Amino acid sequence: MKQLIVEMEQYAQEHNVPIIQKESIAFLMKFIKANNVVNILEIGSGIGYSAILMASSSPLVKVTTIERDEVRYMECLKNVKKCEFDKKVNVVFQDALEVNLSDENKYDLIFIDAAKGQYTKFFEKFKYFLADGGVIITDNLKYHGYVGKSEEIPSKNLRQLVKKIENYIEFLKNNEEYTTKFYDVGDGLSISIKKSENA
Ligand code: SAH
Ligand code: MG
Repeated sequence: MKQLIVEMEQYAQEHNVPIIQKESIAFLMKFIKANNVVNILEIGSGIGYSAILMASSSPLVKVTTIERDEVRYMECLKNVKKCEFDKKVNVVFQDALEVNLSDENKYDLIFIDAAKGQYTKFFEKFKYFLADGGVIITDNLKYHGYVGKSEEIPSKNLRQLVKKIENYIEFLKNNEEYTTKFYDVGDGLSISIKKSENA
């Protein structure tokens, strides 16, 4: 397992695949244990680094993870097999915005870590799959320190992407259904919890 994790870190670096920061995955694993999280849905598998580490948090944890890039999906499957997590990690090869999840599947934790420009869409689509008391955690809300400074970014593409993350943060702050806390951990994380109906 340890060996595989090191290999995945090297692969990510060599092939320019994003993986979660050490501090952030440690935060997630601690959260999973402290809150007895069992069912996890991850949007954006990459090569399976965060899915495998989350799955390793406790024997009960199960992760469904969605990836649209075929090369990464194949690499992710390979890594899941290597650590014999076939029963713990279910990898879905599809665009998350096109996936049809069964209404019966509810998740204690939904981890949003795919295309940063589509965060609001992911949130709005997958919130219906939260179990009672479940949370939505989003990664990369600082986006390498650019968030909050989009106006100063010369590159139009980058500026637009960062603006979308800024809009997502506003969407979370103003959301009447969910309470969100922001954490200055790694590249910036948030935890959103559904407000109780009789509050
Ligand atoms: N969670 C991973 C890193 C994911 S990187 C880890 O920390 O190890 C983000 C991934 O999301 C990329 O591999 C990208 O291909 C994928 N992605 C982006 N938009 C997507 C979408 N709409 N549906 C599914 N996957 C998506
Ligand atoms: Mg990330």
